[in-house]
Amino acid sequence: MVDDQTLAIGVGAAGLIDAEAHEILMSSAIPDQRAISLQPIYEVAAKCPLVLANDMQALAIRWMLTHRAEISQDVLLVGFVDGSMGAAMLIEGKPNRGCVMACNELGHTRMPVETDRCYCGQTGCLEVICSTSFLRRNGLPKEHTLQSILSMEERFPSLDRMLELLATGIANSVNFVRPHRLVLVSNLLRYEKFSVPLTRQIRGMLLSELADRVRIDLWDQPAFQSAETAGWAALANLYTDAWEPTTMTTSGDKEKVAAKT
Ligand SMILES: [Zn+2]
Repeated sequence: MVDDQTLAIGVGAAGLIDAEAHEILMSSAIPDQRAISLQPIYEVAAKCPLVLANDMQALAIRWMLTHRAEISQDVLLVGFVDGSMGAAMLIEGKPNRGCVMACNELGHTRMPVETDRCYCGQTGCLEVICSTSFLRRNGLPKEHTLQSILSMEERFPSLDRMLELLATGIANSVNFVRPHRLVLVSNLLRYEKFSVPLTRQIRGMLLSELADRVRIDLWDQPAFQSAETAGWAALANLYTDAWEPTTMTTSGDKEKVAAKT
């Protein structure tokens, strides 16, 4: 696909990525935990700018670019589906670097409640709380799921408990980061039975000085890991210098750099 018309290439991946070594170190997509090299993609890209991003960070910049948001703002994006959660923090529109490229692991923030064991090895993780298995553990009959009860009139105490814990985890992270915007991303937000109490409780748990200042945006985007999202990360490189490409340096380039210095 790489030709003269290609402006840039975006690569998005879940998990922990070593951007300098061009390797995915760990990801739920590679259960045997061995590092996977991205070098073949860099070799195909050659000198075409290649923007490497964690998939949740790419989703955050996609949201910024498609929702007329101030690109220089701080945004905390929290995405979740039944049993899975990821978050991304952009500071002035840039992904926060940290010691390794990854999303912000809000899903493994732990609460002192009994849950099934998370794939990370612990219990009480927020992403396991936001799941059908947690609702069933708290009395939801087996024939129902998290999504199926959201279109029902009936009230479920297990859902109230889940929403309270989810709001607590998200509100704590907002108080910690104090972003301009909190963006919640989930297909579950289509249901008022879910979105209204969740946002009300999050606001209620924010510091009062923050509650008036932090915007809460809802995005019922259904799919996280799409190729289009990675493409938006590549476009971000054209609109802002906050998303720099990590294009492979060829040996010829290295010689030129050495000659300049
Ligand atoms: Zn976990």
